[in-house]
Amino acid sequence: MKKSILLLFCTFLLLTNCTEKKIPNKKPKLVIGIVIDQMRYDYLTRYADRYGKGGFNRILNNGFSLENAHYNYMPTYTAVGHASIFTGTTPNNHGIISNNWYDKFLKESIYCVDDSNYTTVGNSGNVGNKSPNRLYTTTVSDELHLAQNMKGKTIGLSIKDRSAILPVGHTANGAYWYDGGNNNQWVTSSYYMKELPKWVADFNANNNADNYLNSSWNTLYDINTYQKSRDDDNIFERNLKGQEKPIFPKNLKELRAKNGNYNLIKTVPAGNTYTVDFAKATIKGEQLGKTAHTDFLTVSFSSTDYIGHRYGVAAVETEDTYLRLDKDLEEFFNFLDAEVGKNNYTLFLTADHAAVHVPAYLQSLKIPAHYMDTKKFRDFILNITQKYFNSKELIENVSNYQIFLDKDKIESLGLDRNKVAQKLADEVVHFDKIYKAVTARTLQTTNFTDGILNSLQNGYNQKFSGDVLMIPYPATLTSGRKGTSHGSGYSYDTHIPIIFYGNGIKKGKSAKKYTIIDIAPTISNLLKIEAPNSTSGKVVEEALIK
Ligand code: ZN
Ligand code: ZN
Repeated sequence: MKKSILLLFCTFLLLTNCTEKKIPNKKPKLVIGIVIDQMRYDYLTRYADRYGKGGFNRILNNGFSLENAHYNYMPTYTAVGHASIFTGTTPNNHGIISNNWYDKFLKESIYCVDDSNYTTVGNSGNVGNKSPNRLYTTTVSDELHLAQNMKGKTIGLSIKDRSAILPVGHTANGAYWYDGGNNNQWVTSSYYMKELPKWVADFNANNNADNYLNSSWNTLYDINTYQKSRDDDNIFERNLKGQEKPIFPKNLKELRAKNGNYNLIKTVPAGNTYTVDFAKATIKGEQLGKTAHTDFLTVSFSSTDYIGHRYGVAAVETEDTYLRLDKDLEEFFNFLDAEVGKNNYTLFLTADHAAVHVPAYLQSLKIPAHYMDTKKFRDFILNITQKYFNSKELIENVSNYQIFLDKDKIESLGLDRNKVAQKLADEVVHFDKIYKAVTARTLQTTNFTDGILNSLQNGYNQKFSGDVLMIPYPATLTSGRKGTSHGSGYSYDTHIPIIFYGNGIKKGKSAKKYTIIDIAPTISNLLKIEAPNSTSGKVVEEALIK
């Protein structure tokens, strides 16, 4: 009797051991990187009691959540965020220093993924003249391709081109984004392929966007239950064109003509639902997660950003957007279970930056917040160079809180570029919204190990950045008094969710400080492949089943 109980116990031990070991030893068939554009960490907690069981809560309760994860560079913009998540490093290494920046060599302002060597695949416009060629390092999916001898498919998708292209790097099998305007079309670039796959052409032909746009955006629940947000009618939100007040309901069928026709879907929650529709079509069309090789899919939700910019953090529109996104995620996770299999995928969810409360709203609450007049600022710095160097022609460009000096002009006047830069850095803090300023030379010769100057340093690329770099006060925007934005190195812009879930991931949470560049080395470790070639992040060991 005793013997048989012992035997039973041993068998039990062996079995549990087997099932526990099976999970980490089996590579996921599909990795999914989900990025929610402009999602603040506190959207997880602010609306927690209104989320269902199958969306955010499913991965929070069964995955591993980093509760104190931050961006560790500035500027916190979309392209930079997407590049940093998937390369595991910061702009000083990967080269994507903003969405748009002044190219010192071309002497013109450029957009991060524009590339005239390539053409649109899907229609005759120029929305597809894109490539990832300004990204100088590899992504996790590039390394996965190298590790699997180019087997396995890696695909990126998003309404925004930069959010589809940058995550999947240089060797992607495809990246798709949404044209909009009068073209209800998902398109790509000749960088990836000569013609759209049949499943994309079929998806475009089905024209589901019309179903979403020939309706109204009303709140999901009774509007009186939106107690986490300001009153619907307030002075801090921007209207859609054709609406007198920024209130519900929003009759999309009537509003679409005045708001760029299909572009309207970008700026309503249906844009997220439509993105899930396309992600599902991608998984089916490409048969992702069906072979012995691991596939990699990146899905970036952009509508959250358009909505966030228009209405701000404490808006009924934003609350409703996240309640609806929670349902879209539930639908997507259920689809993954059915199509790929519950234990066959690993996913992570994060954001490309967060956002500040509408500064005018903060001001109404007596919290310091500012609007910077860029025209006034330009005049201010020209007066500095006039006063100290007797010229207003020493500055080539001012953008992204950086001053680019005209090297040739400075040399022709017999001036010293370092002295001009240092004088500007010293004097520019006398402008009422500028809080700190340093020269490029300081960033090359000093190692800032933490704080906002460390973020500035991580965002500074010696080859591409300007000669003087500035930091405004917290809660400073350059745009109008309605709606909000992001871009700073302050915590309201840097604190984002990072949740790992699925194959190889423990259940749990951590309040330790992690940074955005830790995702790529963690996923690389899970897949047992090399991390991207300039990774500067670390593995989040506590999240992984070993
Ligand atoms: Zn963004
Ligand atoms: Zn944005």
